[in-house]
Amino acid sequence: MATIEIEDTITVGALADKLMIPVSRLIGELMKNGIMATVNEQIDFDTAQIIVEELGLDIALERQEMAARTAPLSRSKPAASEGAAVRPPVVAVMGHVDHGKTTLLDTIRGSHVAKGEAGGITQHISAYQVDHNGRLITFLDTPGHEAFASIREHSAHLTDIALIVVAADDGVKPQTLEAIRFARKAGVKIIVAINKVDKEGANPNLVKQQLAEQQLLVEEWGGDTVVVEVSAVTGKGVPELLDMVLLVADVEDLRADVDRPAEGLIIEAHVEQGRGPVAHGLVESGTLYLGDYVVVGGTYAKLRNLESTSGTALTEATPATPVLMTGFKSMPEFGDEFHVVASEREARALAERRQSEQAQGPKSHGVTSSELIRIMNRNKETTELNIVVKADAQGSLTSVIDSLKTLDTQEVVVRVVGSGIGQVTENDVYLAQTSHAIIYGFNISIQSNVKQLAARQQVSVRLFNIIYELIDDAREELSALLSPEVRETELGRLIVRGIFKTTKTEVICGGEVTKGKLEVPAQAYVMRGDDKLGEVEVTNLKRGPADTKEVFEGEMCGLSFKTKRRIDVQEGDTIELFRREVVTRHL
Ligand code: GDP
Repeated sequence: MATIEIEDTITVGALADKLMIPVSRLIGELMKNGIMATVNEQIDFDTAQIIVEELGLDIALERQEMAARTAPLSRSKPAASEGAAVRPPVVAVMGHVDHGKTTLLDTIRGSHVAKGEAGGITQHISAYQVDHNGRLITFLDTPGHEAFASIREHSAHLTDIALIVVAADDGVKPQTLEAIRFARKAGVKIIVAINKVDKEGANPNLVKQQLAEQQLLVEEWGGDTVVVEVSAVTGKGVPELLDMVLLVADVEDLRADVDRPAEGLIIEAHVEQGRGPVAHGLVESGTLYLGDYVVVGGTYAKLRNLESTSGTALTEATPATPVLMTGFKSMPEFGDEFHVVASEREARALAERRQSEQAQGPKSHGVTSSELIRIMNRNKETTELNIVVKADAQGSLTSVIDSLKTLDTQEVVVRVVGSGIGQVTENDVYLAQTSHAIIYGFNISIQSNVKQLAARQQVSVRLFNIIYELIDDAREELSALLSPEVRETELGRLIVRGIFKTTKTEVICGGEVTKGKLEVPAQAYVMRGDDKLGEVEVTNLKRGPADTKEVFEGEMCGLSFKTKRRIDVQEGDTIELFRREVVTRHL
């Protein structure tokens, strides 16, 4: 087994180079494991090791000692002054797909919905508060996006505690490792919930062992990692888990100023009929009031509605409160910071200044230099798959488009000819029709008249609620655009020892198999030294007087081949047999 040394982290592109495999294969394997990573993204050693194992390569990875460890990400939470008020902890639930994040959050939410917040659950809940024994806990939830590093980076930035869910019957997986890495980089506390302990085959001790391998040593083994065994389905252990969250929060002594204009982060944005742009934000410091002037990137709002994420009207929101805001002139960007200014004039001026800065800013937004090189080097024969993407919210739209971009290769690329938030419209259908595009919808629906229009215009509309399925579908479409590969597999070689018959179209000769195995039927090259005399079709093999289908290395045999033009075979020539297949390729 070959050994390759890598550092603590490595880019996807560099790892593919080291493994000598196409980068698309590596990205594909990462995606199968729920990690959406582009060529330039870093993955850590442990993730790389698991992926290499799953690829079935006969390669072992070894960790190269680094001179200096990278510094933890600095957190830019607004600093709290002396005497700031205690605030609720912000908890992000992370972990591998299917380990039970959603179920756990539902269970917590079901039995602990904060007072006055029951009912009216809105569709896009990206954060919410629960009340546990009279104290609030804020949970950040990114349903459907858990695969997207960018979102986790954002939530890690907002987060005080990373609640990492590990299924007791499945153990530590690549996304678990990624969650641990994010939590460490962001310097947030880690609490591990070992979930599904009710299940047959659950092995919490094995999970603890795997955690210990990641330097997360549980308290009962002498470490200081808080680990709670739970079942999201039966609810067992959930109250204890929330107790631990509050305990860790107390130790951290989380505080924020309340007597100043609010600041925070946009965690979701979408359009609602009759309400225009609706943004979900998390107040990080200060107090946000209904009617405040809020600036986000190049847009601003006089807050027309201020609500809890469960739809309860609020007049003010203090730190660590997730809120829903309306009144924005245009859609705020997910991940942008918001802050309150004193007047509409100030808000407008600031938003306009930012807009013009953005307009003058580098256009290469989001494109890294090596991606640029890849784009420039694409040969002219690149085939494009045109698509229109519609999604329910800004965050998911960005995520879908970002992940579609990872499918690009030198030969086939995704071209987004149109995108937007909301249902599929007639305009989308017309756009798709003129540009021969497929319409992909994520978490949205289509009205029957639009559906009929699409059918009439022969436009394919594909709706998904699971991002991987959407990406897989696009990958299949791209694969279909790849020209098939012609593959030649060498079978064996014969050295000619005698010629029995030569005509314009047929040769019968005899000789010894010097390599591999001869089979019939097969294609063959007739070689004289390094010169290729011609390509022929082997029609018959004889061992002694009898016809045979196979002859092995070291054996003597007779061989007949058909040729399109006369080839004067001589003793000492070699006949190299191969099989030619046309293979459809997959991304
Ligand atoms: P997520 O992808 O991490 O959000 O995982 P889900 O919450 O969607 O759960 C994946 C599957 O595991 C679902 O079928 C759940 O019903 C199941 N599941 C989640 N938690 C538990 C648990 O505590 N016990 C059992 N037996 N099944 C669970």
